[in-house]
Amino acid sequence: SRLDSMRLILLGPPGAGKGTQAKNLVDHCGIAHISTGDLLRKAVADGTPLGQAAHRFMKAGELVPDDLIIQMVEDRIAEADCAEGFLLDGFPRTVPQADALGEMLKRKGLKIDVVLLLVVDDDDLVRRLSGRRSCSQRGAVYNLVFSPPKRDGICDACGSEALIQREDDKESTVRNRLKVYHNQTGPLIDYYKALGLLKAVDGGGKIETITAQLIEAMNSAAA
Ligand code: AMP
Repeated sequence: SRLDSMRLILLGPPGAGKGTQAKNLVDHCGIAHISTGDLLRKAVADGTPLGQAAHRFMKAGELVPDDLIIQMVEDRIAEADCAEGFLLDGFPRTVPQADALGEMLKRKGLKIDVVLLLVVDDDDLVRRLSGRRSCSQRGAVYNLVFSPPKRDGICDACGSEALIQREDDKESTVRNRLKVYHNQTGPLIDYYKALGLLKAVDGGGKIETITAQLIEAMNSAAA
């Protein structure tokens, strides 16, 4: 398959840059971006039943129960913009989610083409997450240390002065999210390695360099 018709997973710990890289990759490839974290934060903001059920888990840095997430993703993948290809960002995060994804695609005669793993060590992640700020208007993401807005406290994209810290980016919650990642999501590395789908990319360094390496990994999977 070519890049504009690929189905891929972007895997990696919280703070590895999945959201930033996901945006770059979907812009480059013209495929749909499915971020379960973004979908959940919207559900919480809208006060939907899903959002109400998910909020307390998210606040504590725990995973939202598999059945809720799996249904949400199945609904999203059925939308028209996902027909040609999509990038999953923040899903799957557990082995049952990965199994369910495999089955829902198989029912449609589809499969995952490649799993890209962003590798960053824990100390770096804590520093990155605590510096992360996002615009409350349209969600542009900054890092006070690595990619600050051009003018202090002001969103480059829309000029808003409402750059906020996610409630789950506070240090105590960050530590729990990393623990949850290692315990529950870590096993997916071997899971996808065994399927021959995993490609690891160093998540340290410049954003554009990492994007280029991810695209190269996609191209070699598409070849
Ligand atoms: P993220 O923006 O990907 O870091 O997700 C933020 C929070 O949403 C996580 O800490 C979880 O509470 C929840 N969440 C996002 N994706 C999933 C998933 N695939 N499974 C369970 N919980 C999730």
